[in-house]
Amino acid sequence: MDGKKLEYKGEEALKELEKLTEKADEVQEKILKEILTRNGGTEYLNKYLGGSTDISSFKHQIPVITYAGIRPYIQRIGNGEDSSLISAHPITEMIISSGTSGGEPKLMPSIAEDLDRRTYLYNLIMPIMNQYVPGLDEGKAMYLYFTKAEMPTPSGLPARPVLTSYYKSKHFKCRPYDPFNDLTSPIEAILCFDSRQSMYCQLLAGLIHRSKVLRLGAVFGSAFLRAITFLERNWAHLCDDIRSGQLSSDVTDSGCRTAISNILTSPDPQLADAIETICGGRGSWKGILGRLWPRAKYIEVVVTGSMAQYIPSLEFYSGRKLPLVCTMYASSECYFGLNLKPLCSPDEVAYTILPNMAYFEFIPLENVVQVGEEGEEEDVAQDKLLDLVNVKLGCYYELVVTTLAGLYRYRIGDVLQVVGFYNRAPQFRFICRRNVILSIDTDKTNEEDLHKSVTIAKKLLEAHDALLVEYTSNADTSSVPGHYVLYWEIVYTSVDVAAPLDERVLQECCSAVEESLDYVYRRCRSYDKSVGPLEIRVVRPGTFEALMDLCIGQGGSINQYKTPRCIKSGSALHLLDSKVDASFFSTRDPTWNP
Ligand code: AMP
Repeated sequence: MDGKKLEYKGEEALKELEKLTEKADEVQEKILKEILTRNGGTEYLNKYLGGSTDISSFKHQIPVITYAGIRPYIQRIGNGEDSSLISAHPITEMIISSGTSGGEPKLMPSIAEDLDRRTYLYNLIMPIMNQYVPGLDEGKAMYLYFTKAEMPTPSGLPARPVLTSYYKSKHFKCRPYDPFNDLTSPIEAILCFDSRQSMYCQLLAGLIHRSKVLRLGAVFGSAFLRAITFLERNWAHLCDDIRSGQLSSDVTDSGCRTAISNILTSPDPQLADAIETICGGRGSWKGILGRLWPRAKYIEVVVTGSMAQYIPSLEFYSGRKLPLVCTMYASSECYFGLNLKPLCSPDEVAYTILPNMAYFEFIPLENVVQVGEEGEEEDVAQDKLLDLVNVKLGCYYELVVTTLAGLYRYRIGDVLQVVGFYNRAPQFRFICRRNVILSIDTDKTNEEDLHKSVTIAKKLLEAHDALLVEYTSNADTSSVPGHYVLYWEIVYTSVDVAAPLDERVLQECCSAVEESLDYVYRRCRSYDKSVGPLEIRVVRPGTFEALMDLCIGQGGSINQYKTPRCIKSGSALHLLDSKVDASFFSTRDPTWNP
């Protein structure tokens, strides 16, 4: 790839985007040729291609793999062997993905130029946004970003989440001032590993600059909601700091203290009073975001895929007045693409895959039925895969990538549907991650099916001024027959609700979930009796935050954190069970017609 092109910004970037998408096929062929020429001598490619750099040999001889296929090479490099096992360019760091394999986080190889590629994608976001929301250069963005401490591999390579790598890079830290990317958060607060201190200081900075803030955001919807809950609990302390002009002594990180001292320069009782009136008033927090940041025009957060469940809560806090903008689709393995119509509603979001990010292939899926646990997926015939420009409108595919950093025909595990084309580049709706999360007998429930059923069932809460804010599940096989357990955290949207929900409402929710699960589940439940009645365990407020803390404490990243939709065992399950307030079972068999 032409390194210079990665630097284009603004109008130039949009023109470049046109060219790239018009010539998507050529760009893809070029990148594959570059990968084969550059990396043909690596142990991995050489084993299959014997030195050939021919595209047709690649397509016939390189197997389609999951993490298990690359793990031995990653481990060897992590233990000190040369990068040339998989990549001609030195592997500079390992990116810790949020996915796990055999209980361990997956590590993805990364080379120096990957940072240029990621930066290129970020640099396209503002030119695209600016087409729809003018004037964003006249104020600031309150984006809450977090970093994690690094864990080096045995050979000393940094291993860290992709966003930690990006925020620590000169591409982010030393970027020239750009009025389109003026963040309220000081870099020192973003780089503070203590997520509590980081959150406190970023919110404080966002409040100090509240009259200048034009947009709000975080990477995923879950992180943004976590910030709002943090604010609910800490606004009084934040007001104290603003009133006195002194940062709380609870913040001990020296970088944070110095950075905040530059913006919290004198007491501002007027600002403190204004925030106190908004946060401490007697009404609910519905629409609070618009009151705290009256000039904000949108909230930038990913709310596609499993993040869609946060939409109602985000809309509650925004009073439905701020569009939820999903800008990009990316992963630790590779950044994929952008939403070119950022103001569309979350259920219409389509990501255009940029053909210069990697070489992309697609496994056609007959329908959206996914079977097989990760690590024991069925083999995919090499010649079944389609190129980026050959996917068909309306069809479902699993995404496969080949990168310059040493992943060859690697299954990302995401299921996508083609919903349009931008020039020759397809646009995809994110459907789900491909794997089964719940199974007791022959039933196999994937994340999307569970999510759909929960989405239907949770509507029953709305009539009772209650909102499902978070959920996860577990296949409980401790008794026979086993059954599905859903952990639900519920909040009340009206200040007047005093009593908990009537048990019949939650029993109905159990039945509604069961009715919406697939045929095999309902057969197992009603005919085979191999699955017991579904149970909802209502957990105390704050439980899912505690779960997040636990996962982050075990090495996860706050930016990339997504609530696991299924908890299999261990401390997380123990934590959930210790917070159960009440439990309810489905009281009737779901409908099943042979
Ligand atoms: P990680 O490797 O931990 O960064 O996670 C990457 C995964 O997060 C992707 O493969 C997707 O499953 C999910 N993801 C990333 N961006 C989006 C998005 N915009 N919409 C839905 N899911 C996403």
